[in-house]
This record gives sequence, structure tokens and C-alpha cells, in this order.
Amino acid sequence: MIYADNAATTKTSPLAQKAMLDAMDRFWGNPSSLHTPGQLAKEAMQSARQAVARAIGAQPQEIYFTSGGSEADNQAIVSAAKVGAKKGKKHLVTTAIEHHAVLHTMDGLAKEGFEVTLLPVGESGIVKAEDVAAAIREDTALVSVMYANNEIGTIQPIAEIGALCREKGVPFHTDAVQAVGHLPIDVNAQNIDMLSLSGHKFHGPRGVGALYVRRGAPLLTFIHGGAQESGRRAGTENLPGILGMTAALADAEAHMADNAAHAQKLRDALIEGLSKIPHSVLNGDREQRLPGNVNFCFEGIEGESLLLLLDDKGIAASSGSACTSGSLDPSHVLLAIGRPHEVAHGSLRLTLDRENTMEDVEQIIRAVAEVVSYLREMSPVWKALQRGERQYVIQ
Ligand SMILES: *Cc1c(COP(=O)(O)O)cnc(C)c1O
Repeated sequence: MIYADNAATTKTSPLAQKAMLDAMDRFWGNPSSLHTPGQLAKEAMQSARQAVARAIGAQPQEIYFTSGGSEADNQAIVSAAKVGAKKGKKHLVTTAIEHHAVLHTMDGLAKEGFEVTLLPVGESGIVKAEDVAAAIREDTALVSVMYANNEIGTIQPIAEIGALCREKGVPFHTDAVQAVGHLPIDVNAQNIDMLSLSGHKFHGPRGVGALYVRRGAPLLTFIHGGAQESGRRAGTENLPGILGMTAALADAEAHMADNAAHAQKLRDALIEGLSKIPHSVLNGDREQRLPGNVNFCFEGIEGESLLLLLDDKGIAASSGSACTSGSLDPSHVLLAIGRPHEVAHGSLRLTLDRENTMEDVEQIIRAVAEVVSYLREMSPVWKALQRGERQYVIQ
């Protein structure tokens, strides 16, 4: 099987697995306990916190472990919104291409009376810093812009947005789930106040992540109970998850440049190969994109059928995002970059990483070309296009 769906999740690395087993074997105590097993667990957790902090240029006391990226996004946004509301600030700024963990949290706040500005991204899938600046008002409680998009891979101008939020005194959150472990990040140089990350997007385990919150930035308790995580998130800590994630993160940080160069070489070859399929289009900016991200639309076919036939050929890919496949709605990201509904339905996301090879890429190119022409032969839409009864949208 060729695995080309690393944006959905990555395989837990042997290093991470070992760290998790080790945690269960040696650090099984409750970090809140005063006895020796408890203190050993507490020390292991402190070094994990330091390692996560170091990876993004933060301080250990600014890292809060969570159950993953979704929880971190929820806590960051709801906290900033509610703290803002106390000062009469009930306006939130985000983009149209955020992960649902951000968008649906914003929707919930909108129902509670917050006003949400959804910034457009244009065909490139990149938000303009000047649009962010123009959207900020006196009553803006938070700007939340993802670091890199999970569907089309576009990398946002985070440092520019951070600088202008700092200048205007508005807290800035970034969902960096697709970026951490893959791109260099420095929360101070980039003026990031809050950042979400998740273990399973860089070969760590799932069900564990972290929220970075700059000292002094608003953070409310989300899960009530014990005093864990400085009282901001109750519950006995998931130490196997935390240590597994930390081991994976250290490994990703140590080999970041090599991994990125490798993934990028494969990505570029795959983009070149798939571009040769007639009436196809690459989604997202060609340059400002994650090293391993490839996302195409093919006119006249359904993404779902494409995926299933690729799976038969031993290729694991994705159409839209993992969270929305299964529903008939086309991806909100593809709609936001201006793809019409019928074109957005024919999308394919292939996300490569250090475990993929050039042979994988060659095989994927052959398989996609075959499956696309097979599906087109059966497609009434494609036939209508060829008879000239409809207009091609993708030229
Ligand atoms: C995967 C992902 C999430 C959700 O992270 P979980 O740990 O699965 O909850 C949030 N945002 C982005 C951009 C993602 O890719």
C-alpha cells in the first residue's frame, strides 16, 4: 500500500511507540502524587513540556497539553472570545479556509452574539495581511489564521499577520497543526500569542496535542476538575501520549530540513505528472505550500469514486478533508478558492512525507491517469462536455 494521506494522520513512528511503552513501563505514576513513582512521572512530563516549548521558541510554562489539535483550537478561541467579551470586544476575525475545529467553534460563538469576519483567500488560497489589518476593529477580541492549510497546503503570511496584530494589540492565534514538525516556527519572532499543535500530524500518537499561550494572553479553564496544566485543563495527564508526541516532535525537528527537501522533491514531481492530465487544475499556490501537499481537481468526475478506485490499486489518498468526506458537501476550502461545486467534487489530495519514494510518485501518476480516464468514460458530465453541450470550467 502506498500511503499518501499524511495530512489526515501519520503512522506512529517506532521512536514514538518506544517512548509510549517506556512511559507505561517506567512513568506510570500520577504526576500529581508526592511519592517516588509520581515524581518520576512529573519529571518526565516537565522535560516533555520543555521539549515542546523549545520546538516553537516558547517557555515551558506557556505549554498546555490537550487531547489534540481540535481541543487546543476550541480552548484558544473560546478563551480569547470570552475574555474579550468582558471588555466589550465581541468581534472575531478568521479565514474562510480554517479547519472545522476553528470554523465550527466560531459558528458557536456567532450564535452567542459574537460577530465573526471570515476573510477571503482568493484563488491562491492565501490570506492577505492587508485584509487582516483592514478587518481589525476596536472591538476585535481575536484574530485566528491557520499556519498551513490541511487541504490545499497553502502557507499563510503568519509573521506579517502576527506583527500587525501585535501593533494593534489584538491576540493572535494560529492553528499550526499542519506546520509543527514540518516548518520552522518561532512564536516570538512571528508574534504568535496562541498556537495549536497535534501529535498525530508528525508521526506521534493521536489524542494528544498542545496549546501554546503566551504569558499574559487570555486562557480560561476549559475542563474543570483538578489543578493539572496550571488549573487550565483538569484530568490526569496522558503521559504515554505526551511522551510519544514529544519523541516524535524531537525527531521531526532534528530532520526537518531533510524531510522537507525530500517531500518537496516528490511533491514537485507529482504535480508535474498530474498536470499532464487534461482538464485538471492544481489547487492552492504553487510555491507557498507545504512540502508534501498535492491537491488537484479533475473535471467531470467524483472525488469519492476516484478514491475508492485508487484504494483498489493500493494507493491511500483523500478527497477534501477526512472530516468532511462521507458528506456530499464539497470542501469549503475549494469553494473558498473559487472552484465551482461540480469541479470541487472532483478533487484529490495526496500528502507525501519522509516515508514516500519517487517510485510511489511514479505509481501514483500512472494510477491517477488511468482511473481518471476510466471514470470519465462512464461520466455523463464528461460526455456532455465532449459533445460541447456544457462548458469546460477547467481549461
Ligand atoms: C488534524 C487537524 C486538526 C485537528 O487535530 P486533532 O488532533 O485531530 O484534533 C486541526 N487543524 C488542522 C489544520 C488539522 O490538520
